[in-house]
Amino acid sequence: MERLKQSILESENKIYEALNKDLGKCKVEGFTTEVGLVLSEIDYMKKNIYSFSKRKKVKTPIMFFGGSSYIIPEPYGTVLIIGPWNYPFQLVMIPLVGAIASGNCAVVKPSEISPNVSSVITQILNSTFAKEYVASAEGGIDASKELLSQKFDYIFYTGSTAVGKVIMEAAASNLTPVTLELGGKSPCIVDENINIKNAARRIAWGKFMNSGQTCVAPDYILVHKKIKKELVENIIASINEFYGPNPIDSKDYAHIINEKHFARLLSLMKDGSILYGGKSSKEKLSISPTILDCVCENSKLMQDEIFGPLLPVLEFESIDEAVGFVNRRPKPLALYIFSNDKANIKKVLRNTSSGGVCVNDTINHIITHGLPFGGVGESGMGRYHGKASFDTFSHLKSVLFNQTVYDMKLKYPPYTVSIDFMKRVFRFL
Ligand code: NAD
Repeated sequence: MERLKQSILESENKIYEALNKDLGKCKVEGFTTEVGLVLSEIDYMKKNIYSFSKRKKVKTPIMFFGGSSYIIPEPYGTVLIIGPWNYPFQLVMIPLVGAIASGNCAVVKPSEISPNVSSVITQILNSTFAKEYVASAEGGIDASKELLSQKFDYIFYTGSTAVGKVIMEAAASNLTPVTLELGGKSPCIVDENINIKNAARRIAWGKFMNSGQTCVAPDYILVHKKIKKELVENIIASINEFYGPNPIDSKDYAHIINEKHFARLLSLMKDGSILYGGKSSKEKLSISPTILDCVCENSKLMQDEIFGPLLPVLEFESIDEAVGFVNRRPKPLALYIFSNDKANIKKVLRNTSSGGVCVNDTINHIITHGLPFGGVGESGMGRYHGKASFDTFSHLKSVLFNQTVYDMKLKYPPYTVSIDFMKRVFRFL
């Protein structure tokens, strides 16, 4: 991990250049949303690896008096890490840190859709590790399928829900355990009685960072009818504050990854009426932050994960209505609730299910080391970051170490004790 950190630091500028070429990401965002998170994960693992990897003693039942019970984390073996293009560096590097910390070898398959970053990842891994320990396998779907046809001891996949099903099917043939970090539509509920200016800024930041191409970006807003107009005005003010009057020209505003996604987003834009934004440049592959109104629940915009800078705003009159709206859809990766009403927050937390929740903020729950990150239902299975990464890439082996001094004969046939006696003994398990 120390060598990996050193190599990343030596290649830092190359990483920023590649992120800029692939996604138009600026240096600061390249650090805060990619490189900085990986370096911080390495430091956290280094600091905690001793306690994570120590065998853990658990209570031994009285009937095994004199013995001991413990759990030994052991590496799975060789893990396959397949990554997406939207945060192409950190989404393979953070799992890799967990895999290495747990003692595994790894093959990393970065996304072919962000080729510049993939190439830097390969250079870093090749210059840091012998290929028998950590290797990069660049390539597209065919390369991915070829890797999946081989037997790995664990597969860690980040990407779309549709491809997640393909990965799980391939893993099933070898009974390989998987973590699937998938996507979905993450709702952002905005209650009345909040600090609208703050909420608007936090929502605009989470939504338009990386041009909305973030798995945990607020996909759509569900706002209390009473404050809808004011919230929209404040989000527009925040967009202006962040990116100026012409975001497409802002050096701090990322572009869309490719023409296919650019065309997909322009087509989705037609499903709502434009309250703000709606500008685009095919040459720059950029779409300005766009707020959409009058969106139909059954439109494609509200069925598919948006994964771009389009923000539909829907309204509700009671928190129950908002909860019902969320629950009519697959379980999201993230859920955001802005409210100062404790009862309403509790209601949302208790009555909805999502990978994670951020109350009165967006995105930031995923950068807290102590909080495992992962989805539920269609947004994925398994979790990682910090201790959760260590556990994900470890088989937790259970060991009972019995004494050899005496042997309780009661348990052996022919049975001389009654079932009632055994029931009493089992109370001490
Ligand atoms: P994708 O599923 O198209 O591709 C991801 C990886 O899978 C790539 O490396 C690709 O080469 C490979 N792949 C694609 N099709 C394949 C196939 N048929 N067989 C085998 N491998 C295949 O995803 P993407 O477009 O790169 O990423 C966007 C999606 O990822 C969004 O849905 C987003 O929400 C999700 N995502 C989730 C997280 C998370 O942490 N949960 C993070 C980022 C992105």
